[in-house]
Amino acid sequence: MNAMRGNLGWIEVVCGPMFSGKSEELIRRLRRAEIARQRVQIFKPVIDQRYATDHIVSHDDGRIHAESVNNSADVQAKLDVRTEVIGIDEAQFLGDGTVDFVVRLADMGKRIIIAGLDTDYLGRPFHPMPELLAVADEITKTLAICMQCGNPAKHTQRLIANEDLIVVGAAGMYEARCRRCFEPDLAAKEAEKRKKTQLVSAG
Ligand code: ADP
Ligand code: ZN
Repeated sequence: MNAMRGNLGWIEVVCGPMFSGKSEELIRRLRRAEIARQRVQIFKPVIDQRYATDHIVSHDDGRIHAESVNNSADVQAKLDVRTEVIGIDEAQFLGDGTVDFVVRLADMGKRIIIAGLDTDYLGRPFHPMPELLAVADEITKTLAICMQCGNPAKHTQRLIANEDLIVVGAAGMYEARCRRCFEPDLAAKEAEKRKKTQLVSAG
C-alpha cells in the first residue's frame, strides 16, 4: 500500500484460484495492521466451514481470528464504528450488496482488504468479485501451481461431479490448473461416465 495522509479510505482486492495464497496474503496484511496497533475486524462467510468458524485458515495452516457472517448486512451489523481496517475472506459468497457497502466504508475513511475467487469452477467470473475489482484502489492477482504440469495456474478445477455453483471443499475436491490443463467440463464428464457404468451394471 502507498503512503497515505490522513484517514483516506482504500479498497484492496486479492483474487485468484484456490490454493493461490489469497488467504495467506490476507492474513499477512491483517497481521501487519494489528502489529501497527490499528483496529482490525475480520469477517468470513459462514458457508466456508472447511476448518473453523472463528478463524480464517489458509491451506498452509496459517490462521487469524475472524467473525462469521451470512452476507454484507451481517458485516454491517457486526462492524464497530471505531474499526480502521476490515478484512473479508471468500468475498465471492457475500452477495451483490457487498459492492456498495465496501465503497461506503472506503468513503468513510476505512481500509478494506478483500480476498476471493475471481472465477468459478467453469472459469466464469464469480460475482461480485468483478464488481469489487472495478471499485478497488489496488488489485493483486495470485496464481497457484498447476497440479498437472507445474505451470502457473489461474483456474480452480473441480474434480468431483456436481453442477452446483457452490460446493465447499478443498484438497481432493478441487485442484489448481493452468489454462491449458483446465477442463471445465470434467465434472459433467465424470457424472456421465458414472451414469453409464450404473446402467451397464444394472443391465
Ligand atoms: P487460497 O486462499 O488462495 O485458497 P491459501 O492461502 O489458503 O490459498 O493457501 C496457499 C498455500 O497452499 C500455499 O502456500 C501452499 O502451501 C499450498 N498449496 C497447496 N496446493 C497448492 C498449489 N497447487 N499451488 C500453490 N500452493 C499450493
Ligand atoms: Zn497445467
